[in-house]
Amino acid sequence: MALRVTDPNGARADRELSPRLADVLRTGKDDWSNASAPVRRAWRRTLRYLRRNGLRIRCDCRPEGPEFVARRLGQERYTTANLPNAEVQHAEDCVFRRGKVRAGAWMPGGNADLLNPFARHERREDAPDPDAAPRTYWRPPGVSTGERPKTMLHVARKLLQTARLNTLAAADRHPEPADWLARIAGAARTLYVPPRIPASRFLFTDPESWRSGEVGRYLDAAGSNWPQVERPFAFLCWPADRVEGSEVSWTKPEEGRIAAGDRVVSPSIGRNPVQGPYLFLGAVARSEDGTRWECARACAQPIAARDCPVPVDSGYERGALGALRELVRALHDSPALKQALGGAVRVALEKPLTAIEVAGGPCLPDFLLTVTRPGAYGHLPGGPGDPRHRGRYDPRDRARFIVEVMGFDDPEYEARKERTHARMTRIGPVLRMEGRAFGPDGNGAHRQGRRMAEQIGIDLRRRWAAG
Ligand SMILES: [Zn+2]
Repeated sequence: MALRVTDPNGARADRELSPRLADVLRTGKDDWSNASAPVRRAWRRTLRYLRRNGLRIRCDCRPEGPEFVARRLGQERYTTANLPNAEVQHAEDCVFRRGKVRAGAWMPGGNADLLNPFARHERREDAPDPDAAPRTYWRPPGVSTGERPKTMLHVARKLLQTARLNTLAAADRHPEPADWLARIAGAARTLYVPPRIPASRFLFTDPESWRSGEVGRYLDAAGSNWPQVERPFAFLCWPADRVEGSEVSWTKPEEGRIAAGDRVVSPSIGRNPVQGPYLFLGAVARSEDGTRWECARACAQPIAARDCPVPVDSGYERGALGALRELVRALHDSPALKQALGGAVRVALEKPLTAIEVAGGPCLPDFLLTVTRPGAYGHLPGGPGDPRHRGRYDPRDRARFIVEVMGFDDPEYEARKERTHARMTRIGPVLRMEGRAFGPDGNGAHRQGRRMAEQIGIDLRRRWAAG
């Protein structure tokens, strides 16, 4: 493992930075005031060279290789800077991690953990075109990790991501939505509403709290202590089955419906939202005339199933996820793989919600599979699950596969996908699923999943099998 010099323009091949210069960069970054004169000279020379040639350094603290660039601060003064929209942060203990910011500190400009759908001077909401052609597919534009979520769908995705519910490991096996709603409420403790209040205090996950007027009474009481906010608000968050215009409803009739003040924003095909189930997120605020509390904004983020709230962007993705759940199990249980590799592989499935920065630009794969070789970290104290080993494994012990779900008739969308596939190969092999062949019963999806499991198995044996 080493720092590597990369060329975002692809003109030069990646190469390893010499161990001496890697050491210079670490020492200079870690403790400049105590760095020796030769280290300082080598630091300047290296960073000047990187900057002049538009080169980057790929860090070895994580297999995704977070990249940083050289920046000039003034005459003969240079520093390293992380890419502003990098999806992959450096490991906790990496010296190149973003500037040391105290947990919970106010970060001017950044505030990726601040939720405020009613922020002033901001674009109101991205939404599908109400007059869209029948086959036009719309989903919310991606956000970068460092960016504050600005729309309701972005807030919903931020909550899911913070709760890690975009990973199968965290989202699977929840017999009751209450289980995963509790995870979301827990995640909201680390997110904020203005001025700097944990969002969990203004997040309601029980429909009854809205129907009974509890939310309004709570906001009335909080309002007097909440002076800096233009518009006090609270979030409503729970599963939903149907979306129609500005109405959201549930299968259970006693749960009733909620009418939002505005159209419920959801990924859509033509004028129709992608089918449910959904994670519904509403923002309650004072009505324009000031007389009552209303659900002023609302969105519905499709999820895989009521007992598995992995966010999906289309029915095809939902079908793909069902097959991928099976694939994850099949790879783990495969006797052939166990025999060839000397144990079971571990397979993690993730729905990425923020763009992954790779050479050539950002990309947002539909799904990401990470396979860990049996026995990786086995020699380290505490075994594989020990959090101390995070970011310290050998990248060769992990294999990543991208799963892309194809299947819209929207040529512009397909063309965009094709372009980003080239970038995705930097992360790992791109496997494509054909949504149009899934069939009404989903058998086609499972067939494709089984075929992919075979392909991946062959790839893993080629990488890791002894001899
Ligand atoms: Zn790093």
